[in-house]
Amino acid sequence: MLLFQEALNLISRNVKQLAAVKVSLQKSVGMILAENLCSRIAMPPFNKSAMDGYALCACDVEKVPVTLRCLTSIEAGISFNKTIRAGECAKIMTGAPIPKGADSVVMVEYTQQIKDSVCILKKVIKKENVCVKGEDIKINQKVLSEGRKISVSDISLIAAIGRSHIKAIGKPRVAVLNTGGEIIPPGKKLVKNKIYNSNGLQLQALLLADNIEPVFLGIAKDKPKDLEQAIRKGLECDVLLISGGVSMGDYDLVPAILKKCNVRKIFHKVKIKPGKPLFFGKRKNAIVFGIPGNPVSNFLTYQVFIRPALSKMMGKKPYGPKFSEGIIEKAFHHKAGRKHFIPAKISKKGVNYYVTPIESHGSADVLALSRADGFMVVEADRRVVKAKSKVKFIIWEK
Ligand code: AMP
Ligand code: MG
Repeated sequence: MLLFQEALNLISRNVKQLAAVKVSLQKSVGMILAENLCSRIAMPPFNKSAMDGYALCACDVEKVPVTLRCLTSIEAGISFNKTIRAGECAKIMTGAPIPKGADSVVMVEYTQQIKDSVCILKKVIKKENVCVKGEDIKINQKVLSEGRKISVSDISLIAAIGRSHIKAIGKPRVAVLNTGGEIIPPGKKLVKNKIYNSNGLQLQALLLADNIEPVFLGIAKDKPKDLEQAIRKGLECDVLLISGGVSMGDYDLVPAILKKCNVRKIFHKVKIKPGKPLFFGKRKNAIVFGIPGNPVSNFLTYQVFIRPALSKMMGKKPYGPKFSEGIIEKAFHHKAGRKHFIPAKISKKGVNYYVTPIESHGSADVLALSRADGFMVVEADRRVVKAKSKVKFIIWEK
């Protein structure tokens, strides 16, 4: 059976980065920039007042108090075309252009205006309370480099240099299909022998958390016709996630229907616990994951295989899940055989992480999953993890 790392490598080999697309700024957070962003303008674009106050020449207020003649009031967005001369000033608003002849601004709090005259009570030095043209960004300055993951704090910068759209690596269209005659949607009355669809909402939530709008295809019965129809629809997307129907039961029909739909199997089954029956295939540029139906298997395979695949498509680096190392509090006995991912509590004390496995009834135990912070990882051949020894884990954000 395929080892974990081999499966991860096969996925990487079969998944390509998507092409760059034009995207509006407010939708670009988390995407990878596909161009170097250079500013065509200086920031600020003109000398502007940083305060509400009076624009004047610092040399006129070397001795205070001093009374100056106020020529006008300059509003933001409007320019005053006369020059401020010795003994004169202009009232000015924050963001308004500094008039010719003035080199600084005295805050309104340090002044007293009487009709056309203003008494200045405080000295200023040259350029005080003035944002000088180009002091933040020079013309043609590169402000962000290709390959950057766009963060919320980049948005005001990109907008400030006048861009409403940017080029970024595209996002995949991802379809979610749940299968099983026993599966009914949450919100409906539970009837005999049925079980609520945990995976549909879970996979959609995971995708949304990864900034991807899912295409939900609903629940298909374990009937060839139903499955084929839904799968064909899903194959119109870049990625199709199918939960259930990939194991060894009489009604696990997904691999056969995928074959009928010309999906080429890359692998089926990985030496991991849970998640062993995982299927991965490809048709043209579309990739398909067939995920074993239990919710913990869905969650785990998303974290360790599906998210890395989607991240690679979206141009994110490095590839693969992030493993960290912690210290296990109590000894853990492990039935050797497959690489085992166990829901665990993980806490940081000082520089170390401490890992405590959660008692779980297996891959259907959604309560254990919800109580966990991550998965402790035990290698296939390890029988005992001794108390206080090192252990690998992966963690997700709560
Ligand atoms: P399967 O992979 O279809 O053999 O399903 C394995 C187990 O997971 C069975 O007990 C199913 O009832 C359960 N299961 C399958 N799909 C879901 C789902 N969408 N939500 C919750 N449990 C599921
Ligand atoms: Mg099933």
